[in-house]
Amino acid sequence: MPNPFEDALHQLKRASHLYFFDPDFLLKLEHPEREITVFIPVKMDDGSFKIFRGYRVQYNNSRGPYKGGIRYHEKTDLNEVRALAFWMTLKCAVVGIPFGGGKGGIEVNPKILSENELEQLTCGWTKSMIDIIGPSKDVPAPDVGTSSKEMDWIASEYEKQTQDHLAKAVVTGKSIDVGGSIGRDTATAQGGYFVFQALKERLGLNSPVRVVIQGFGNAGRHMAELFYKDGHKIIGISDSKGAIFNENGLDISALISYKDQTGSVIGFLNSQSINQDRFLELECDLLIPAALEGQITETNVEAIRARAILELANGPVTPKADDVLFACGIPCIPDILANAGGVTVSFFEWEQNQKKETWEIEEIHEKLKMIMDESVRVIWEEQQALGCDLRQAAFLVALKRLQQENNTK
Ligand code: NAD
Repeated sequence: MPNPFEDALHQLKRASHLYFFDPDFLLKLEHPEREITVFIPVKMDDGSFKIFRGYRVQYNNSRGPYKGGIRYHEKTDLNEVRALAFWMTLKCAVVGIPFGGGKGGIEVNPKILSENELEQLTCGWTKSMIDIIGPSKDVPAPDVGTSSKEMDWIASEYEKQTQDHLAKAVVTGKSIDVGGSIGRDTATAQGGYFVFQALKERLGLNSPVRVVIQGFGNAGRHMAELFYKDGHKIIGISDSKGAIFNENGLDISALISYKDQTGSVIGFLNSQSINQDRFLELECDLLIPAALEGQITETNVEAIRARAILELANGPVTPKADDVLFACGIPCIPDILANAGGVTVSFFEWEQNQKKETWEIEEIHEKLKMIMDESVRVIWEEQQALGCDLRQAAFLVALKRLQQENNTK
């Protein structure tokens, strides 16, 4: 069984040996502060009763309230949620926002539940977590399998249970009409695109770049749209059902409508179906994993023919694959930088809720770009100074900030 948390700890070791960190600080960071497993009862539409297993991992709050999404996936487990919560801790430190790291999950395939069942499940999770979440304690957000719909249910259930006047700020990624921020739905991709723009020349990538994207959900489809609108060529796209390819480029606007109508990218006009494993080996300028962890491993890394990788998903490249990519000179822009746009705009949403303000999209993008550009700058400088890879550099930037907070507590 793959264990993403083992990979996360391996990444920590791979980076931390490049600098002197207090061993007690590192030991603390190898363990989450709190983990909660709950069992949520749901009365199904057919009258039967089912119990679902849910989690919240509160990894570290030395920089602020725990922050991180909730994943609905049949194969999620505590090790995965723990790894995601660890990465959130580092990610918030990378972009310098005042949050710690947390993550949640429910072992469920949300696609086979009705609206009523999903609402009961989400409200059940919220009730079980009511004492440990809150605007200044722990602030969930969407992740794989969840969207603004579930976040709205969490906000409403939390408000019902607590009567907190700032209840909306308990969760981010809400719909605009219940206090969500404009630009949050596209933020993960937008942040990743700002990172790509800031690094493009430094990585020797020339426009138009030929892009392959694994995953066509929230992160992947918005990323595809941004590249497409700027005139780049998206030559391959995959989802959980399969992968498609067209060396002349796919029409992304038409593909989005097609996926909404049919539920998959398979069979799209002027595209060729391709095996999921071979898909990751397509020759391209930029490979963007935007689905799940553990996709580029010691088994397939030697076959990768991308000039660079940008991790929009969390944890798609394993540490052993990192070593091979580094040796082959294929730069990998790490998740804790590349997908940090999501949590950054979540922070903007939380701030707007606290101050009872509504910011315009121009302001959101301007602030997001400033943060992403600055994060790229410090990580690039660290990487150049040490001659390490970008993940090690991003970890070092985050770890130094976390150690500083740890020392002042
Ligand atoms: P999502 O549920 O909206 O989409 C996931 C996509 O991945 C779907 O298109 C699904 O079909 C596809 N997929 C699943 N298994 C696959 C496989 N084996 N091969 C190809 N495609 C597969 O989820 P999302 O929010 O887009 O999240 C995707 C990744 O981005 C996750 O790693 C998540 O943690 C990360 N992320 C998301 C956000 C966010 O704001 N949503 C923020 C930061 C990071």
